[in-house]
Amino acid sequence: MGKKGLLLIISGPSGAGKGTIVKALQREIPTLIVSISATTRQARGGEVDGVDYFFLERDIFNKMIDEGQLLEWAQVYGNYYGTPRHFVLEALERGNDVILEIDIQGALQVKKKLPEAVLIFIAPPSRTELQQRLFGRKSDSREEIEKRLQCMAGEMKLAAGYDYIVVNDSIRRAIDNIRAIILAEKCRTWRLQPIIDHLSQLGG
Ligand code: 5GP
Repeated sequence: MGKKGLLLIISGPSGAGKGTIVKALQREIPTLIVSISATTRQARGGEVDGVDYFFLERDIFNKMIDEGQLLEWAQVYGNYYGTPRHFVLEALERGNDVILEIDIQGALQVKKKLPEAVLIFIAPPSRTELQQRLFGRKSDSREEIEKRLQCMAGEMKLAAGYDYIVVNDSIRRAIDNIRAIILAEKCRTWRLQPIIDHLSQLGG
C-alpha cells in the first residue's frame, strides 16, 4: 500500500488553465504520468493522436465501455471522453503518481471507485478573466465558447465536492499549490502505515 502512487484528478471550467498547469507539472516532476484519454471529439489543429488524446470512432469507444476498459467515461460538450483503466492502474501499482485531467462527472465516478483519489478543482480568478482566456486562445468557435461558459455555473457548484480548490490567478502559484498538495498527500498517515508498523515493532 505504501508504495502505490498518488492518483490526482484535475478538473475545472474550460479556460481555467488546467492544460498549462498539467504540462508544467509534467515538466517539473519527471516521474509523474499524465493519463491520455480516449475521445470521440475531432482533433483540433496541432493535436496528435496518442499524445493529446486517442481519437476514436463512436463504435470503438462504445466497445471500450462494454468491455470495461474505461475507469470512467462521460459526455462533455456533446462528445464522449474516457480514461483507459489498465494504463492508470498499472502505473499506480508501479509506484508512479498519475494525473487525470477530466471533467467533474468523471472525477466523481473515479472517487467512488477509488476513494484515495485526490480531487483538485482549478478555478479561474473571475468570469471576465475566463471569457478573455477562452476568446483569446482562438481554438473554439463562438458557439462552442458560449456552451462552455454556460456550463461553468453548474460546474462551480460541484466544486464543493472536491478535496482541494486552487485558484489560477498566477500559473506559478497554482503549480506551487498543487506541488504542496502532492507533498502533503504523501504524508497522510494511512499511506505511511508500513513505516508506523515497522517503527512500533522496534520497541518490542
Ligand atoms: P477538450 O475537448 O477541451 O480537450 O476537453 C473538454 C473537457 O473534457 C475538459 O473538461 C476535459 O477535462 C474533459 N475530459 C478530457 N478527458 C476526459 C476523460 O477521459 N474523461 C472525462 N470524464 N472528461 C475528460
